[in-house]
Amino acid sequence: MEFWSTSPRVEQLRARLLAFMAQHIYPNERRFFSEAERNGPWAVNSVTEELKPMARAAGLWNLFLPDATQGAGLGNFDYAPLCEVMGRSLLAPEVFNCSAPDTGNMETLHRYGSEAQKRRWLEPLLAGKIRSAFAMTEPEVASSDATNISTSIVRQGDEYVINGRKWYTTGATNPRCEILIVMGKSNPGEANRHQQHAMVLVPKATRGVTVVRPLPVLGYYGVPDRASEVWLEDVRVPVDHMLLGEGRGFEIAQGRLGPGRIHHCMRLIGLAERCLERMCRRTSSRTTFGKPVADQTVTLERIAEARISIEQARLLTLKAAWMMDKVGNKAAMQEIAMIKVSAPLMAERVIDWTIQAFGGGGTNDDHFLGVAFATARLLRLADGPDEVHRNQIGRLELKRHHQTDPAATGGGGEVLSREEARALAAANRWPPPDSARITQ
Ligand SMILES: Cc1cc2nc3c(=O)[nH]c(=O)nc-3n(C[C@H](O)[C@H](O)[C@H](O)COP(=O)(O)OP(=O)(O)OC[C@H]3O[C@@H](n4cnc5c(N)ncnc54)[C@H](O)[C@@H]3O)c2cc1C
Repeated sequence: MEFWSTSPRVEQLRARLLAFMAQHIYPNERRFFSEAERNGPWAVNSVTEELKPMARAAGLWNLFLPDATQGAGLGNFDYAPLCEVMGRSLLAPEVFNCSAPDTGNMETLHRYGSEAQKRRWLEPLLAGKIRSAFAMTEPEVASSDATNISTSIVRQGDEYVINGRKWYTTGATNPRCEILIVMGKSNPGEANRHQQHAMVLVPKATRGVTVVRPLPVLGYYGVPDRASEVWLEDVRVPVDHMLLGEGRGFEIAQGRLGPGRIHHCMRLIGLAERCLERMCRRTSSRTTFGKPVADQTVTLERIAEARISIEQARLLTLKAAWMMDKVGNKAAMQEIAMIKVSAPLMAERVIDWTIQAFGGGGTNDDHFLGVAFATARLLRLADGPDEVHRNQIGRLELKRHHQTDPAATGGGGEVLSREEARALAAANRWPPPDSARITQ
């Protein structure tokens, strides 16, 4: 039972979504995984394409987009329970045109694109006709500090010339991927390291763009992620392909990453919820040493811990979503970072217990548990590793307490004065009276 209120519209959308999942998504998952495995990362999977028009006809399309004219017009809080349902299956998000990295890229174009850029790229993305990729990370620099990104973006007349090597670019091997949002250095001389970079739109078909190879994610190609290495060699695009402006890449990253990150967390909650359900059913149906595995206290303990941690993650996600809606992504920065750390860790642990509960079969993909584990694990890195988010959380926490008056909050950490220490010692009758001393 939920103690927060959901609007009738969201209730209705959720009911429709659940029905669609039951009728079209779950029954097609086995086909999806076998197609993905057979076709590899360079192909379009027919099952996804078959289901997309059905999802669209059911009004379950672009639910992520807050703009009511082009999307569902839902805020993050309203979208959370819907995104969670989609996250239950790795097939679902793309079927509803709500999958990463396209959602983040569409939001970027929606927020920062010019009218011409929106017409050319956002419209076909919203229609599900093309796909996109986001190319920031580079093999040659530690990219969790994005100020290290070294791809060069140099203006020459009416064009930008781009040179760099990218990797872990999700989605670029997909034949339907037509546009890359490339982050690179446009203003290397700028003193402020957060004003040196820009994001530029690079059509994948441009001369000099090479998708060199697909990259495995814990041995998987295609699902859960079509990671790839992309080279940009003397790539030329017209100057109107710049997003927002030179040196403004970090401004865009701030706006793009908030929603993208929280969507991952919403989906992970759905995935963990489904795995918990599987753990309960499986352990109830198998007996060892005279009783169902479910009755072993270690199983009960794990089930209980899983339930507690899923609920905790959901509540924190909803709080972050609510804050994003009410005070904006910047003010919700700490909550977004907190959930970005805690949701993948939670899901990874719940899925790990589920694998254990399934025994050897948990490690293959008959029950999609191997790929579920890979999904949770990769999300401890993608969109920034845990450590970087933890640093941010810690710094924001320190900042908050530097701004408050410790006398008012009882939060002081100061050293006692000599007088206070002496008074305390006297009040506690310490050092002890002579009678209590050990004498030789
Ligand atoms: C499956 C997958 C999909 C991805 N998709 C995309 C994509 O579509 N587009 C894209 O641009 N990128 C993508 N990424 C890349 C991802 O965002 C980066 O891998 C991540 O930001 C880390 O950068 P790095 O790999 O260069 O690691 P590095 O920066 O080299 O960091 C390595 C490790 O150092 C440690 N570390 C770093 N900073 C700190 C710190 N401050 N304190 C303590 N420890 C620290 C962390 O443990 C970190 O994992 C994806 C990654 C994966 C795995």
